Amino acid sequence: MAQEADEITTVETHYFPEVLEHFDDHGHLIDPNTKFNIGCYICHVANLGLVNHASEQRSSLTHEPFAVLPRCGHAFGYQCIMGWLLLDINKKNPKCPACRKEVYSNKNSPEVFLIVGVSPPEEQHMEINAIRKSLRLKEPLSPPSQTGPAVWDFIRFAAMPHGP
Ligand SMILES: [Zn+2]
Ligand SMILES: [Zn+2]
Repeated sequence: MAQEADEITTVETHYFPEVLEHFDDHGHLIDPNTKFNIGCYICHVANLGLVNHASEQRSSLTHEPFAVLPRCGHAFGYQCIMGWLLLDINKKNPKCPACRKEVYSNKNSPEVFLIVGVSPPEEQHMEINAIRKSLRLKEPLSPPSQTGPAVWDFIRFAAMPHGP
């Protein structure tokens, strides 16, 4: 066989539909030789906390918790997107810094985006499945009537400590 079994594929994108192509329907990595070097759209540091746990340790110094906006699939460092949303908080409806799509799905969805990247290795497939599920939400946007409280509900949710 002429196949190069050890060839490494490096995934470098902040657009999560492209990331998800490297995981199967159960959220497990398809090719064990895949590496992730996923950057934040805002600060351009490629350190979002998605790693190939078989070959790489996730470090709190180099891999941040991150968030994927469910309306468009763009990924950001958690600190960066929270800072962005706080700047945008007095506007009618915050928009994705990458594509300007509105963040909210509707006024009844206080959880405006997913926080992921902090689960232990054996739970990574659940994060992947959750992201995939959220990105399949394709219903049309309806402007929220109470964007402020919804954002604050979300921030409280996101600030909850993650169990060990
Ligand atoms: Zn960033
Ligand atoms: Zn976007």
